[in-house]
Amino acid sequence: MHSALLADGKVVTAKDYDEKMHGVRIVCMDKCCNVPVYFIPSSKGVISHFKTSGKGSSVHKEECGFSRKLTFQETVAKVSEYQTSLREHGIREIVVKLNLNSIDPDIDVKTNERKQREKIEKEPADLDEDALKEDKPTPQSIGSLRSVKKLFTSVEPDLLATIIVSVKGERIPISELIRHHDIAHVAVWEDKTLNVPYFIHGCIEKVIRRKKVWYINFTATENGFFSLIIFDRHFKHFTLKDNELIGKEVLAYGMLKRNEFNKEKKSTEMIIKTNRYIEFL
Ligand SMILES: [Zn+2]
Repeated sequence: MHSALLADGKVVTAKDYDEKMHGVRIVCMDKCCNVPVYFIPSSKGVISHFKTSGKGSSVHKEECGFSRKLTFQETVAKVSEYQTSLREHGIREIVVKLNLNSIDPDIDVKTNERKQREKIEKEPADLDEDALKEDKPTPQSIGSLRSVKKLFTSVEPDLLATIIVSVKGERIPISELIRHHDIAHVAVWEDKTLNVPYFIHGCIEKVIRRKKVWYINFTATENGFFSLIIFDRHFKHFTLKDNELIGKEVLAYGMLKRNEFNKEKKSTEMIIKTNRYIEFL
């Protein structure tokens, strides 16, 4: 772990930790855990961090985000929790650009790349764990669903909680952009979402293929329905079969929209265009 709680309740990162200044009584930053942790200075290519000793009371509690390897969904929940507490303590945030133009078949990538090159000399590098650990001078970006999945299944939640995503002129904590479909659905109908693309996760229950449009439905809840929509002009880009989709946990990417035609049956939609708008979890 890269951050810990001091005796006065403040958060300190391993990079800023100074025993003389901060004292040695430091605990796990997960509020449900709070067990003693120890500072490990950097050595042999491993950067400084905090860890439990594994002895006595210095063992992470079961519900702690550092007690074991978390699933994608568990990490999303923990990052959301930590992001709130890290922000309160003014911990360094890393701003990352969201740029998924390369997965969009409607954007002429070549023209787009040329335009980008005119603006900035170098394309931002895809965000990775190293960039989160050190201050990299080069801008970082998120360029695919796969990189989101990789980050959330391999990087510790307190590091992920420092990510702020820059998209469409907004700067948004990453935990707010990744949501379970039911939470996103409720937010859409309460007008509590922003006009930016979201990453939505959930389990696919049903696929309906009509002549002009295909619907991929997540499991219905008492709050309503959530469907991924593919229009006929994109059918050729979407080759996943029903049996590859039904019953699978996926992450999908796109803009959220209410289905205004049938307000009785509250339903939220997200238009997707190719296989690359879905990542299996
Ligand atoms: Zn812990």
